[in-house]
Amino acid sequence: MPGSTAIVWFGRDLRVHDHPSLHAALAEYDRVVPVFVLDRALVRGRYASPARTAFMLACLRELRGTLIALGGGLVLRDGDPAEVLVGLAQEVDADAVLWAGDVGPYAIARDRAVTAALQGADVAPRPHPGNFVADVWKPRTGTGRPYTVFTPFWRTHAMLERRDVHGAPRSMPALPESLARGTIPSLTELGLTDDVPEPVCEAGEAAARKALTAWLSGPVDEYAKRHDDLSGGTSVLSPHVRWGTLSVREIEARALDRGGEGPTAFVRQLAWRDFYAHVLLLHPANTRTAFQERYRTLRWADDEEGFAAWKAGRTGFPLVDAGMRQLARTGWMHNRARMVVASFLTKDLHLDWQHGERWFAHKLLDGEPLQNNGNWQWVASTGVDPAPYFRRMFNPTTQARRFDPDGVYIRRWVPELDGVPNQRIHEPWTMSDEEQQASGCVIGRDYPEPIVDHRAERAEAAERYLKT
Ligand SMILES: Cc1cc2nc3c(=O)[nH]c(=O)nc-3n(C[C@H](O)[C@H](O)[C@H](O)COP(=O)(O)OP(=O)(O)OC[C@H]3O[C@@H](n4cnc5c(N)ncnc54)[C@H](O)[C@@H]3O)c2cc1C
Repeated sequence: MPGSTAIVWFGRDLRVHDHPSLHAALAEYDRVVPVFVLDRALVRGRYASPARTAFMLACLRELRGTLIALGGGLVLRDGDPAEVLVGLAQEVDADAVLWAGDVGPYAIARDRAVTAALQGADVAPRPHPGNFVADVWKPRTGTGRPYTVFTPFWRTHAMLERRDVHGAPRSMPALPESLARGTIPSLTELGLTDDVPEPVCEAGEAAARKALTAWLSGPVDEYAKRHDDLSGGTSVLSPHVRWGTLSVREIEARALDRGGEGPTAFVRQLAWRDFYAHVLLLHPANTRTAFQERYRTLRWADDEEGFAAWKAGRTGFPLVDAGMRQLARTGWMHNRARMVVASFLTKDLHLDWQHGERWFAHKLLDGEPLQNNGNWQWVASTGVDPAPYFRRMFNPTTQARRFDPDGVYIRRWVPELDGVPNQRIHEPWTMSDEEQQASGCVIGRDYPEPIVDHRAERAEAAERYLKT
């Protein structure tokens, strides 16, 4: 058949709006074959998550429906991306494969292997932007070094060139009739069982765009003031950002168009995501070890019981438990709660941040190695953007008083504390016997005693961090 053909390889960019490689393929080639490669190394790998995989499969089903409605389709293949893409390129006689380049260590190795295999088969590899607000490789300090501190990174990042934002295509070329489409497997077919009963948001691009429009139509204006309120105040767009059902570049552009204090603060927060991508791109060893050399020998505790109580949300500290139970039920947790539970794990229980990172990766619908690693190391004080360890040691009681003063968040996720009066909700163990009876929450029976003494553990953390 005469004319040119491009394959668009979808990854964690499961959308049709503002999709640079799809846009370029449609502009430059006669035929476009969209494909998703189910990579078992990711489905089953170190950071595997049944809930996140379920979310991804739902996004894929919707994307396929959208592409079909536009006149095209989505091919699904299973296997090693380099082999699959070369095979498909030969099958459809493709001139090029276009995709959104990524920066995590696994993605870099995979994209290199894909590039080499395509070149070997005489097919042009054409990575495009699409996963970040701007080019995360570019920011450099005055001395030409990569950044390890957020604020100066952000100043440079804000000045970087931005690509245009594209709409969705109006139509797609039809797929070759004889081409096998492949089926999108169910979670069960992948041998997985979803363990997040109430996902925080609906999967797919339509739901994502609706959520973005709702957020930008008003609530974003309060972001600077309210982003730390535990029972609201943030966009909850992170699962959509994670799976690329929203383009972060488009989010930034639309927030900047709205303008004002809230949108400006929100755009700054989005830059943290590019920052941690920049960091891991330039320091890939961070996935296995502390960025700060002196903390690589830090003496962590071995406390299986404490770890189990933390995961189950049964530490006896209401805010920690609320956060961990929100995570278990919805696959999402408010950022302030993430900081408190991460501090509790590393500085009250003295457990290695990598245990927490792995648990978050297992549960979070927005779980992503770049962001998860950067944030865990930030709280553990072992990473970039350094601050003395005690500055990131959060007191779970004072944090709860400050960001959940009436205990709304705590009561939502820890129902056994529902009847506890406001003045005791942050420290239920201080209730008298009579108060415990009256509130229907007897400590040690209905709700655990605190598993540690925060003040004593604070001193213990100092010992560990200073002696390393
Ligand atoms: C220990 C720990 C682990 C984390 N793991 C992840 C993770 O695996 N994936 C993830 O996306 N975020 C992670 N975060 C960052 C942050 O908690 C979430 O991005 C945020 O809570 C998502 O909610 P939101 O969409 O309402 O955020 P908003 O406050 O509305 O922010 C908008 C967007 O900006 C980005 N963003 C905001 N804060 C951060 C941040 N600190 N770092 C990076 N990006 C940010 C997200 O894409 C977010 O959707 C982690 C934070 C901590 C403390």
